[in-house]
Amino acid sequence: MRAADIADDLTEILVTQEEIHAKLVELAARVAEDYVGKDLLLVGVLKGAVMVMADFARALPIDAPMDWMAVSSYGAGTRSSGVVQIRKDLDTDLHGRHVLIVEDIIDSGLTLSWLLENFASRGAESIEVLALLRKPEAAKVEIDCKYVGFDIPTEFVVGYGLDYAERYRNLRDVAVLAPHVYA
Ligand code: IMP
Ligand code: MG
Repeated sequence: MRAADIADDLTEILVTQEEIHAKLVELAARVAEDYVGKDLLLVGVLKGAVMVMADFARALPIDAPMDWMAVSSYGAGTRSSGVVQIRKDLDTDLHGRHVLIVEDIIDSGLTLSWLLENFASRGAESIEVLALLRKPEAAKVEIDCKYVGFDIPTEFVVGYGLDYAERYRNLRDVAVLAPHVYA
């Protein structure tokens, strides 16, 4: 669905499908250049990164296997706490691999900072991060993210894989959720 199909649930479209696709093509060209001669492994974080991975991986002009991890962070309320539990682990041995973590969004950065440490301890040769979206003002820890799609304001957004209570993941655009939906 497009933002226009559920206009009542949204207040503002931040990034359109067309802008996302153009950005992913641009990032894919950079990644392909940076990994020439290297054995690249894409790691997606379920479920939010599903759409980014699908479009980014297909925009890549090089072959790259993909693996998936599912994590959940626990803490008070809906905010990320940095305490992460693995729900589904990787199938791949990371030893000696050049890993590119593919993420939907960096908010506090706590989940990714935990993942980066975890992957480093498994012996990955290199680890970089690609995130479609980043909320710079929400950062609790600095994440060295080499490939960023769009910096956005600190607002709750949905679409393109991002959900509110498992809804809106299949929205093609990224939009701000209207407060009446979660009030
Ligand atoms: P962090 O640990 O605070 O960086 O949280 C990262 C995760 O929280 C993301 O991978 C998303 O799944 C979720 N998240 C953060 N901000 C939003 C948002 O605005 N909408 C939907 N999910 C979000
Ligand atoms: Mg996520």
